[in-house]
Amino acid sequence: MSKKIDDVLKRLTQSSFRSQFKLDEKDLEYISVRGFDTIKKHAYDFIARRIAPPVIKNDGKQTPMSGHPVFKAQHATATCCRKCLEKWHKIKINRQLNQKEIQYTGDVILEWLEKQCVKNQPKRKKDKKEKIGTEKS
Ligand SMILES: [Zn+2]
Repeated sequence: MSKKIDDVLKRLTQSSFRSQFKLDEKDLEYISVRGFDTIKKHAYDFIARRIAPPVIKNDGKQTPMSGHPVFKAQHATATCCRKCLEKWHKIKINRQLNQKEIQYTGDVILEWLEKQCVKNQPKRKKDKKEKIGTEKS
């Protein structure tokens, strides 16, 4: 992970609004059923259609609060609209996002999702300890 993304994710955890977004059981299930590659595709599709254009009529309201794990990730990472992208990520409003910015926005979203998945991984007990010389005769 780049230091820039690491830093911004850290700053975001200090915002009470941003840090209230968390993946729930349904989101985690969705990710595990669809697979991370599909989620990645969805993320870039949402960015291309709702975030990248120079003018977005309903900017600030184009990203639902839930209904897809990527939507939650966008609110959590302030990539939900161009106003938030400008405020938190210093990406200028009122122009088309360039390829580098699209990539960056996707990276931020996916990094947050990955962290959430790791955090919510079911804890597995190490029950396969090798037993040597414990067999009773
Ligand atoms: Zn926003």
